[in-house]
Amino acid sequence: MSNHRSRHERVALVTGSTSGIGLAIAQALILDGWMVALHGLGTAQEIDSVLMQVASQVGSSNMPRHFHADLRSPEQARGLVSEVESKLGRVDLLVNNAGIQHTSRVEDFPTSKWDEIMAINLSAVFHACAAALPGMKRRNFGRIVNIASIHGLVASAEKAAYVSAKHGVVGLTKTIALENARSNITCNAICPGWVRTPLVEAQVLHRMSAMGLDHEAAERTLLAEKEPSQRFTTTEHIASAVAFLISEAGSNITGTSLAMDGAWTAQ
Ligand code: NAD
Repeated sequence: MSNHRSRHERVALVTGSTSGIGLAIAQALILDGWMVALHGLGTAQEIDSVLMQVASQVGSSNMPRHFHADLRSPEQARGLVSEVESKLGRVDLLVNNAGIQHTSRVEDFPTSKWDEIMAINLSAVFHACAAALPGMKRRNFGRIVNIASIHGLVASAEKAAYVSAKHGVVGLTKTIALENARSNITCNAICPGWVRTPLVEAQVLHRMSAMGLDHEAAERTLLAEKEPSQRFTTTEHIASAVAFLISEAGSNITGTSLAMDGAWTAQ
């Protein structure tokens, strides 16, 4: 990164980093010397076990601090950024990663699920960015990476809320990039295809029971339907893409959506 601060003075907030993609991003940032604000839902015991897992991966120096906020609430989404700023001094990198999924046809889609997905997957991204941008502008430095999805670029059946929210994230990413193009603030989205995480595991389990398949066969059919490479993107690959976007080489990359989809959208 082209800036005068050493990395350990830089603060990154990664939402939804107690699991899956967010956890891998947080771990990679810690190993790279960032001070990381870990965030995600869970009981005290669950959070402790994540912190222990992080310590075993990255060592006990430069341990992250965990922050709690339920991103269904706009106040908590904005409050999360303020709390990190007040406890850790700043937010230089904001990774909006928290997200949930629900599958159902439009006519059967529960209103409560629609509202929840729009709140967590889209509105919280807006609120966190709105809260973080003033500090980034004051310091003339900021990096925002939104973990959207390939469903920010194309649709799939039975994912109305998720697809709508992720298309919204891609649009919001472009708007923030344009509004800040003359400052040293970039905003980009990453659009993964399938990644093995608890969010996808639920869909694999659904397939196993709906189609009478074993776990491996269910994963194979999931990939076969959409992803020509027939391979999952790993959480570590996504962490590396974040590292690239926030590096000096990425300093003039802004407003873009990086597909990591095994040619899903090339078809
Ligand atoms: P995951 O289920 O492993 O992790 C989700 C995280 O979000 C957890 O830390 C959880 O605590 C947090 N979270 C959920 N609801 C919350 C709430 N109300 N308030 C605060 N935090 C909440 O999921 P994942 O697969 O790692 O997904 C991370 C992101 O990547 C999501 O935005 C998802 O849409 C996106 N994504 C995932 C895949 C995939 O294949 N796994 C593909 C494309 C995009």
